[in-house]
Parts: sequence; structure tokens; C-alpha cells
Amino acid sequence: MRHNHIYRAVLPGSFNPIHYGHIDIAHRALRLFDEVIVAVYVHPGKPDLFSGEERVALVRESLKDEPRIRVASYNKLTVDYAREVGAQAIVRGLRVFSDFELEFRMALANRRLAPDIEIVTFIAAEEHLHISSSTIREIASLGGDVSSMTPPHVVEALQRRFAELRARGTNSSYMVSLED
Ligand code: ADP
Repeated sequence: MRHNHIYRAVLPGSFNPIHYGHIDIAHRALRLFDEVIVAVYVHPGKPDLFSGEERVALVRESLKDEPRIRVASYNKLTVDYAREVGAQAIVRGLRVFSDFELEFRMALANRRLAPDIEIVTFIAAEEHLHISSSTIREIASLGGDVSSMTPPHVVEALQRRFAELRARGTNSSYMVSLED
């Protein structure tokens, strides 16, 4: 049956950088929603390995074959952003048990702020359970191979960034010890 209502979800995160775990969640969300907006949270003034613009560009390239995915950055409460773009739901991914408590707390806080927006959580694919942006940053900073965790253009961006940091003599362990 055709419906004339667009079901739209926001998938928010830092995506610093995007990896196969995020991409898997975006694809799962596309099975339930007509449109998925991957929303890159940009915290002004916070020193990140990749700037907001760089993170958005890496996400765009990763999902460029999906016409029903839009990529944007935002810098406000996620529920306010979701309302602004007309989304009915916020999508999150769940990896391991340790994610649960934080996700549960955030979901309840978001529901208190915006009872009209549903929080939908997808369980990560088993092969991606261990992947996190911080692990990728740490391995890449030490010259390790992250090609099984994130697409080739992200691997290249990581190699370039750490080469730049080394050339400048910047302590890359500072960059990788930042939280996700
Ligand atoms: P945040 O900065 O809010 O922690 P991230 O950018 O790390 O967000 O991730 C965005 C979303 O993707 C979150 O819901 C997170 O739980 C989910 N996610 C992160 N890594 C994985 C993974 N390996 N498998 C599935 N989902 C993941």
C-alpha cells in the first residue's frame, strides 16, 4: 500500500571518522525509513582529528550511492535538529553491552525533551561490533592497518592526517586520546 507520508530519521553522531559500523546502521535504517539524514555533530572549538567539514565530506563519499541518504552537520540539541528537518525518529546503533547504559540514558533524556520523536536503536552487525572511531584513530596513529574497519578513502585521509601531524611534530597521541 502506498503512503503519502515521508518517514524520515536522523542518525546523529560525531563520525570522527565514519566507519563500517556507522555505514551498516545507515543501511539498516534505510530499510525502515524513506529518508535518513546522517547528521554530523560539530562542536565548535573542540580540537578534533578531522574538522566538521572534513567529517561531512568523508561521510558523503561513504554513502554517495544512496539517494535516500542526506548528510549534514548540526550544532544544537539533536531533538531540535530532528524537529527542524521534519524527522519522526532518531536512529542510534548499539554495539556492546557497555553502549546500552549511555544509549538508554540519552534516549530517556531525549524523550523527556521531545516526546513526539521516537528513538530507534539498531543492533550492530556482529562483524562490526568491535569497531569504534577512537579505536580506528588509535590504530591509524600508530601506523596500523584499519582497512577492514573503514572505507579506502577514510584510510587515505587518516594516513594523510597523521603524516601531516608527524611532519608538524604534533603529538598525535593527544589527538587520539580525545573521546569519540
Ligand atoms: P557519538 O559521537 O554520539 O558516540 P558516533 O559517531 O561514535 O556517535 O556514532 C554514531 C552512532 O553510530 C551511534 O549510535 C553509535 O552507537 C553507532 N555506532 C558506532 N560504532 C558502531 C558500530 N561499530 N556498529 C554499529 N553502530 C555503531
